Amino acid sequence: PLVLGIETSCDETGVGIVRGTDLLVDAIASSVDEHARFGGVVPEVASRAHLEAMVPTIERACREAGVALSDLDGIAVTAGPGLAGALMVGVASAKALSVALGVPLYGVNHLASHVAVDIVEHGPLPEPTMAMLVSGGHSSLLLVPDVTHDIRSLGSTIDDAAGEAFDKVARVLGLPFPGGPHIDRVSSDGQITIDFPRGLTSRKDMERHRFDFSFSGLKTAVTRWVEAEQAAGRDIPVADVAASFQEAVTDVLTRKAVLACREHDVAALQVGGGVAANSRLREMARQRCEKAGIALRVPRRNLCTDNGAMVASLGAQLMLKGRTPSDPSLPADSSLPVTDVRTGLPVEV
Ligand code: ATP
Ligand code: MG
Ligand code: FE
Repeated sequence: PLVLGIETSCDETGVGIVRGTDLLVDAIASSVDEHARFGGVVPEVASRAHLEAMVPTIERACREAGVALSDLDGIAVTAGPGLAGALMVGVASAKALSVALGVPLYGVNHLASHVAVDIVEHGPLPEPTMAMLVSGGHSSLLLVPDVTHDIRSLGSTIDDAAGEAFDKVARVLGLPFPGGPHIDRVSSDGQITIDFPRGLTSRKDMERHRFDFSFSGLKTAVTRWVEAEQAAGRDIPVADVAASFQEAVTDVLTRKAVLACREHDVAALQVGGGVAANSRLREMARQRCEKAGIALRVPRRNLCTDNGAMVASLGAQLMLKGRTPSDPSLPADSSLPVTDVRTGLPVEV
């Protein structure tokens, strides 16, 4: 099926078009520059930017894919989780397209889409797959027997998300927002000189929080370290601090992901979400998975951060598997749980 996917959960207006498991186009308009001076995403600014970008981005996607709207077999849209006002722009646009074209509407979960995007990159997901979702708002280990229908959370962060930790540490180091890509960049010139804490890896924590993460202690440790250096009148070795922080995050993430695969007897690990764009994480995951005999799947960088192709990819899977479309009354749900792959299903009468 030919499916158009719309993503507006945060600050990127994404429109992707896939045919089955083939990616035709991934068009994106970002309002990130408008938020940078506030040091974080401003919801009202994001909603307005989505409104302005929606129609031009849909038109651009169709043009670049050589597709007419009337060719489409289905419309998929991020229905949650995310910023309520931002989600509403995408959902309203998708409903309008679905009604106007007379094609089914699929309200999908943004987090499941971060996993499903890997299908347009590496083909169908093994069932089951272990997914590690590491993004701006989430850090979870997910057992995925079927991405169209059954996602189980084995654990998640008990405080900050991995991306949030990258962004906060970047701020402490005086790097611009969003900080993840900057930490990645400056780390390549740095040495791992500081042994920052690995959250929830002690013997006791591994009993109670085996597949959970915690990054707020790490963030505090970095902040204290920097403050102590400043108080002593020394220059901050930004590249070394960034590299040492990045090492601590990726060590915990990859260690627990491999352990989850082993203990649940899963042979494939998929890594998705914005932090999956991180160079060191990609490298360490590759080494550790190779050693453990696990097949690693990480999409190209621009499919790790938010985009429309991920939504279209999940929509196409739902159509291929014959899943029920959403009702035209589909609501946006800013706190949609990760286990709900799709939403807004018709009520049985
Ligand atoms: P969620 O998916 O949980 O709703 P989100 O959609 O805002 O959150 P994503 O777009 O998936 O998040 O990811 C954004 C996050 O990824 C930001 O925190 C950003 O700093 C981080 N990030 C992006 N590139 C990199 C990188 N190369 N290294 C580390 N972090 C990165
Ligand atoms: Mg973003
Ligand atoms: Fe995301």
